[in-house]
Amino acid sequence: MTTTVITNIGSLVTNDPAVGEGPLGLVEGAALVLDGDRVAWAGPAAQAPDADRRVDAEGRAVLPGFVDSHSHLVFAGDRTAEFNARMSGQPYKAGGIRTTVAATRAATDAELSANVARYLREALRQGTTTFETKSGYGLTVEDEARALRIAAEHTDEVTYLGAHIVSPDHADDPAAYVDLVTGPMLDACAPYARWVDVFCEKGAFDGDQARAILTAGMAKGLLPRIHANQLSYGPGVQLAVELDAASADHCTHLTDADVDALASGNTVATLLPGAEFSTRAQWPDARRLLDAGVTVALSTDCNPGSSFTSSVPFCVALAVRDMGMTPDEAVWSATAGGAAALRRTDVGRLSAGARADLAFLDAPSHVHLAYRPGVPLVSEVWRGGVRVV
Ligand SMILES: [Zn+2]
Repeated sequence: MTTTVITNIGSLVTNDPAVGEGPLGLVEGAALVLDGDRVAWAGPAAQAPDADRRVDAEGRAVLPGFVDSHSHLVFAGDRTAEFNARMSGQPYKAGGIRTTVAATRAATDAELSANVARYLREALRQGTTTFETKSGYGLTVEDEARALRIAAEHTDEVTYLGAHIVSPDHADDPAAYVDLVTGPMLDACAPYARWVDVFCEKGAFDGDQARAILTAGMAKGLLPRIHANQLSYGPGVQLAVELDAASADHCTHLTDADVDALASGNTVATLLPGAEFSTRAQWPDARRLLDAGVTVALSTDCNPGSSFTSSVPFCVALAVRDMGMTPDEAVWSATAGGAAALRRTDVGRLSAGARADLAFLDAPSHVHLAYRPGVPLVSEVWRGGVRVV
């Protein structure tokens, strides 16, 4: 296999404290050696071993490709009017997810797949090399299975979210919808998915329903994750820890007991500031979680309703400005934190054995992601050792 040395890296984030300084494993004046699709070596440029091929990073910062552990990309249609009304202070009448469900059901497979590919290209240009995506805009057996089949063409991190909201077809009988989600819909969807998820929230699914949905998925071999404590306090976070879910996502409204539960377990708290931005809602308190010792991930929640951004750098900047994170913590959470939220050890770091997924910044340091918000700093992206942007 061809080896490549990337040298003259201004600063390199490895997320491996054994390789460099601090939790980011930061190396100034660094080099990386790649062997095929893997990292073979990381460290100071002066000590780099020889390789077949040499690439000059010209002083740019290099960090692991972002790991976006929460998105909803299998959808059709658009909710510009809803956003515009919300930002204009007009009350918005219902619609919401149901609007996207109707458009998604009406779309062809090719339209849905092209839409996923389009947002993935957009995310890739902004440095995302690993992403998770969910169903949840079909809400029938056929439409949910179709969404997951399409998602699986684009990523291995596929999540069954039949329990996004109670299907409009079952509005009068939510219990029957839970039976569908835990029965025939699960049977049809499980072959395409790695994860099972539920929106545990007032107006969606309560704690008992969420438990039934996650445990049914787990019995079929799926791993649990959960939309928890986004709009109000509730049982989601504690259920996540009890079931050893990989991640509790949103975590905006937390009691001290919720924070203690997260600190005591293996469940990552995934914060999704694009959602609070797009709904003018209260920010999640990352500082409180970090000070308690909780593992925090940052992700986009990219979806057409409440967070229509595919930009992890945007989320990093928000987390630093408004959620009490340091730039180092935010970058760690968007890379290693996202990997932890997907229970992955091969991505989110750049040291020997990791996948060679790299983001180059047109800047000398990762700190510029928060220091220069909104600027397209990602100038080059490699995935599996291949330059893709
Ligand atoms: Zn979500």
